[in-house]
Amino acid sequence: MKLPIRTLMGPGPLDVHPRVLAAMSQPLLGHLDPVFLDMMNRMMDKLRYVFETKNELTLAMSGTGSAGMETVFVNLVEPGDKVIVGVNGLFGTRMADVASRLGAEVIPIEQEWGLPIAPEQIERALTQNPDTKFVALVHAETSTGVWQPLDEIAQVVNKFDALLIVDAVTSLAGIPVQVDKHKIDACYSGTQKCVGAPPGLAPVTLSPKAFDVLKQRKSKVPNWYLDLTMIANYWGQERFYHHTAPISMIYALFEALTLIEEEGLSNVYARHLLNGRALQAGLQAMGLEMVVKEERYRLPQLTAVRIPDGIQDTQVRGLLLERYGIEIGGGLGPFKGKVWRIGLMGYSSSRKNVLLFLAALEDILN
Ligand code: PLP
Repeated sequence: MKLPIRTLMGPGPLDVHPRVLAAMSQPLLGHLDPVFLDMMNRMMDKLRYVFETKNELTLAMSGTGSAGMETVFVNLVEPGDKVIVGVNGLFGTRMADVASRLGAEVIPIEQEWGLPIAPEQIERALTQNPDTKFVALVHAETSTGVWQPLDEIAQVVNKFDALLIVDAVTSLAGIPVQVDKHKIDACYSGTQKCVGAPPGLAPVTLSPKAFDVLKQRKSKVPNWYLDLTMIANYWGQERFYHHTAPISMIYALFEALTLIEEEGLSNVYARHLLNGRALQAGLQAMGLEMVVKEERYRLPQLTAVRIPDGIQDTQVRGLLLERYGIEIGGGLGPFKGKVWRIGLMGYSSSRKNVLLFLAALEDILN
């Protein structure tokens, strides 16, 4: 196998630390080997650290971020449940789709792409539907670069005694997720973004309240592979076999989380913020326009920038790859051909990449 070496600066996957790659080449252990089981226990603690939670049910599902999304919805939602979903980008749309496939009554709260969902919108919807069981939001909308504030909305959701579901696929270990502080009941992520591992696992955490909802379901969880009532028994004391754990991916995630611990979560957030804002300042100095106008709603780890008039999207991305080995993302849905998405996540969030990308883009545009 002879593969090119790229600089991955799109919406994911991103480059990973050499220690993470080295971890994946370690010899396999059996998935019930005591050494491996000890690693899983320690990993649950490491995941609690990045989610900033004490939730007992905190583990990594086999599968990418979408498996995390499915896990949360398939385990908690039952037919007829009312679910309010913030829809201001592709991933909010996907959450609404997943919930509706489970027979939920989905109440979409729409907002223009590039803007966050306002607490008043959620409050209005909850006032009109006080029997709502779940409110679901995307914390970091990868399709638009919007940083969704959670503070006020979490208070509103709590006041109405609904459960808060948060998609943290692009936010975990990039900006503070703070599951316990925000009283988030169910949160899921992926490994290939700010967490700094290859794609393949989906960290998930459920609050005790969400765990109770799961235990009190009227119907069986309608998906065998993602059924947390069984998977929790493998990650817990019983160690019942459910499916073969993806051993090498667990090594990779373990090492990526160890790197985060070593750097310290607050330093990790500061690094993402510094590099993201530096990139955005550089792009604006080149005359480019941000999709998210207000800086407080703009993610540092994923920047969506409008493609200037007269510039060919695919041509520029092709030249970035050809001349510099840099990969960035194009726009999704209504942003196709209009927006570029530049990721500075995990190991990829570095000064070196900020400068490399700005210089490369300037070279190509001029
Ligand atoms: N949610 C968000 C916010 C995402 O950005 C993504 C992927 O980019 C997903 C969910 C789905 O994750 P995956 O592609 O790893 O299945």
